[in-house]
Amino acid sequence: MMTVSGRRPKPFILEYTRFWWDGVAEGRLLIQRCADCGTLRHPPAPSCAACQSLRWDAIESAGIGTVYSFVVSHHPEAPGFEYPLVVLLVELDEGIRLVAGTDLRRDEVAIGDRVRVDWLRDEDGAQLPYFRRLEEEGGR
Ligand SMILES: [Zn+2]
Repeated sequence: MMTVSGRRPKPFILEYTRFWWDGVAEGRLLIQRCADCGTLRHPPAPSCAACQSLRWDAIESAGIGTVYSFVVSHHPEAPGFEYPLVVLLVELDEGIRLVAGTDLRRDEVAIGDRVRVDWLRDEDGAQLPYFRRLEEEGGR
C-alpha cells in the first residue's frame, strides 16, 4: 500500500463497472468473464464481444503480469499526480490488458518487465491499483 498526497480524480461508475470498483476498494483485482463463452474482458463492457451475451460474472486476478507497453506523460499536468508520470499497459497472466500507474521511474521500466499489483490510496481514501516490479527468480 502506498499513500499519495493530493486527491485523484474519482471514477464515473456505471452499472456494469461497479463490480470492478467495488473490488478495487477491497484490494481485489477483478476481471469480467462472459457467463456463456468464458471470454475475459477489460475494461468492463455490457456485452461479450465474442458471443454478444449479456450474461457475465467475474474472476479474481492473481495480479501478476507483464509490461506490454508504457507511456511517460510530461504535460499537461493533472492535480494529484507526480510528473513525469509513467503509465503502464500491463498484460495480466490471465490474458487481459489493464492501464495502470506504477512506482517505477522512466529509466527503471522496460517492455517485458514482470510486475505485480499493489494498491495506492489518495488523501480521500480512494484506492487504485498500481504495479510494482515482481521480484522472481530469473527476473531483472
Ligand atoms: Zn461470450
